[in-house]
Amino acid sequence: MTSMSPSTVLVFLDPAHPEGRLADSSVPQLMATDLGATRGDGVFESLLVLDGKLRKLPAHLARLATSARALELELSGEEPWRAAISTAVESYLEAHPGVDEFIVKLLVSRGVEGAGAPTEWVQASPAPALGKKQRVEGIDVVLLDRGYDSDLAERAPWLLLGAKTLSYAVNMAALRHAHSLGADDVIFTSADGRVLEGPTSTVLLAHREVHDDGSVTKRLITPQLDSGILPGTSQGALFTAAQAAGWELGYGPLEPEDLFDADAVWLISSIRLIAPVNHLDGKTIGSDPAVAAELTAELNQLFAGIE
Ligand code: PLP
Repeated sequence: MTSMSPSTVLVFLDPAHPEGRLADSSVPQLMATDLGATRGDGVFESLLVLDGKLRKLPAHLARLATSARALELELSGEEPWRAAISTAVESYLEAHPGVDEFIVKLLVSRGVEGAGAPTEWVQASPAPALGKKQRVEGIDVVLLDRGYDSDLAERAPWLLLGAKTLSYAVNMAALRHAHSLGADDVIFTSADGRVLEGPTSTVLLAHREVHDDGSVTKRLITPQLDSGILPGTSQGALFTAAQAAGWELGYGPLEPEDLFDADAVWLISSIRLIAPVNHLDGKTIGSDPAVAAELTAELNQLFAGIE
């Protein structure tokens, strides 16, 4: 059996340990009958720690609670979660002094079969190097059909479309399919032809317009949040910052043509941050690389300022 990287820190929520129970990540810690393992029945969040600071913790805790409600999972309160997260962050920083970037995951499974109580834990681990590269160099993306209508989420809440569940096998399969086509990532479309999201990210596009009087309008657009996608904490935070900086905001419905017409397109998420889309289905995105680079630089700056 291969063990996890020894650099990974695990902290279980445990009423007997108010600060969380540190566990050895190099040996098995979950029961084989945990419903998270046997059914992918659970929810999670992925957060980034950058320069010692945990980004957007309140937004991630709020979404964890929303996802848990959708699955009728009873979560521990915010206090034990915050305590376990602090223990994980401190332990990771102690083991890796000077590390500038790492990931914290919050995980909840329905628990051991028959036990009737969820298993809850925090994992701190290294950030993948690929994400950093893709932020700088950008990515090539393919459109893939998700097979659902964009209004299905409301009609069929049991599909858990807006929840961040542990069942990411489909999302990972879509990424492998993209890789087999020579692309880096995916933008899902709905059966009714709408742009949805990436398997681990939110889609953003922008238009920049220079008016006759020399003034510039910048508009940042994302797909409708009620189209069966996961509402991104990064998109939410960036929209707030962009609006404060004078950008106009827009929410879909979007079609693939809107992506091809944009001045720039990005996939945004908590861990990889803002990844510019260079090509979509083999076609270059944006008509002017200088404009796209300027918009990316501005959004990167706004996003870096987010707590
Ligand atoms: N959409 C999906 C399906 C995701 O898995 C993620 C993040 O993992 C996102 C969007 C982006 O969410 P966030 O910005 O909160 O990381």
